[in-house]
Amino acid sequence: MSGGPQKVLLIVGRGRSGSTILDNMLGELDGFFSVGELHNLWKRGLVRGHTCGCGRPLAECPIWTSVLETAERDLGGSLPTPNQVQGWQDQFVRPSDTRRLLRKKRGDPVAGLSRYLSVLDSVYGALFEVTGARVIVDSSKRPSHAALFHLLSGVTPFFVQLVRDPRAVSYSRTRVKPDEVDQREMRRDGTLRSAFKWWQRNAEAESVRRKHPAGRSLTVRYEDLVSDPAGTIESIARLVDETPADLPFEGPKTVRLGENHTAAGNPSRFKKGLITLREDDEWVHRQNARDQWITTIISLGLLKRYGYPVIVPARLE
Ligand SMILES: [Zn+2]
Repeated sequence: MSGGPQKVLLIVGRGRSGSTILDNMLGELDGFFSVGELHNLWKRGLVRGHTCGCGRPLAECPIWTSVLETAERDLGGSLPTPNQVQGWQDQFVRPSDTRRLLRKKRGDPVAGLSRYLSVLDSVYGALFEVTGARVIVDSSKRPSHAALFHLLSGVTPFFVQLVRDPRAVSYSRTRVKPDEVDQREMRRDGTLRSAFKWWQRNAEAESVRRKHPAGRSLTVRYEDLVSDPAGTIESIARLVDETPADLPFEGPKTVRLGENHTAAGNPSRFKKGLITLREDDEWVHRQNARDQWITTIISLGLLKRYGYPVIVPARLE
């Protein structure tokens, strides 16, 4: 097992903000290992039988098989079943539980939650041991998952709050995106719900960050990630006190992605080879004015904080 601090880098934020490509790029760095949405390892990976990023069913992936065997050993041979773990998540780690979890102190006597925390500690410990990584990248995104990390004893958490213009997120979430693996459509939202959820998730992400030292977190904007991916990756590496010898870029915006072992996440996590990043700004031209203004009004306070304009420039309609 690594003798240094076991660093877990959490990507927190709203979906459709570039978390999958960010997660995959970070996973390419020397000493980093990306696990995708670890929160969904049990429900989607082990209960529903979804596919690992390497293309195998998760239960047949050699990395995850080894990680779960190691975690079971560390727990004295009694790894709870995936259904048990999912039950604890449904009971204690719902999206609405974020602020309640942040108020908890280590050692609070809640039996199921304590068991879940010991499972998380053992799985992260096993990930460091099996992969040899110094940094585990976890793109679970949910603040309620990130709100558990002051209660864990075995890891040092860092947080990247990934934000994107809420009008772009609203536009993306009103469109259908097929999930190639799950054979279902990814969730669609109405404009009102999408805007409120954007505001709520970012406000909660900031609450999680305030629970930890200021030097442990960073705000990253999707728009900056796409315009300067190498610079963004370097700033995140500095956050976790790593200086990777090589970055996985073949050009200013072209990244080379290899195989990964992400446990769950957006279907784009399966992309490999050369990927060129480009900003998806279709919303600027296509989003109707009503949806744009509803989103702007609901998100106004945080919109300015993250440096987004109130009036969207360059509308072509
Ligand atoms: Zn795998």
